[in-house]
Amino acid sequence: MGLVAHDKKKADLVEWVQTHRAILEIHTLFATGTTGSEIVRHTGLSPTLLKSGPLGGDAQIGAMIVEDRLDMLVFFIDPLTAMPHDVDVKALIRLAVLEDLPIAVNRSTANALIATIG
Ligand code: PGA
Repeated sequence: MGLVAHDKKKADLVEWVQTHRAILEIHTLFATGTTGSEIVRHTGLSPTLLKSGPLGGDAQIGAMIVEDRLDMLVFFIDPLTAMPHDVDVKALIRLAVLEDLPIAVNRSTANALIATIG
């Protein structure tokens, strides 16, 4: 599973991870750098940390999708803030759609997806 959150959504994602900790701790987790560090700090889980999103982490997640290394992606997007790496965000979402990867971009969808593996 991939875990990514834009800055203003990181606290939400950490809370979501905490809520679903029992399932997530038996899952193989990958996260972009800053998101992953927050998850480590607040939950004690140990996702594999990729580069920070704007520094290539989103592109790394995109590569993992096309290599079939993720079973789902939880990406809490901030729809109200312009991102310097918007092109990478779009590419990542495009690849997830192309590969038909289950992807959740908000909490209610993430809840629905996790229920399918829980
Ligand atoms: P970050 O990257 O976890 O390193 O902040 C997320 C993003 O903004 O794509």
